[in-house]
Amino acid sequence: MNPIKRAMLEYWGERCEDYEEGCVVCDAWREYDNLVMDNKIANNLFLQEMVLRNAPPLDPAIRTAINKLIVERKPNDDN
Ligand SMILES: [Zn+2]
Repeated sequence: MNPIKRAMLEYWGERCEDYEEGCVVCDAWREYDNLVMDNKIANNLFLQEMVLRNAPPLDPAIRTAINKLIVERKPNDDN
């Protein structure tokens, strides 16, 4: 499992079956999907390059965006 998805699961849990407006979990996963789609082509090239260099296969831009998202949109019910 990729680190971003694992972070998503840790913070928000499994995505809802149906999208619900105003649901922070749905919004988080939608953002995740958007980020993945937006970065898919560039990230594939990036991944190929990083694998060749034996570096961690994660686009820092995605990690930064998700971290930002987690900080800004984290639900209040953290234990
Ligand atoms: Zn939801």
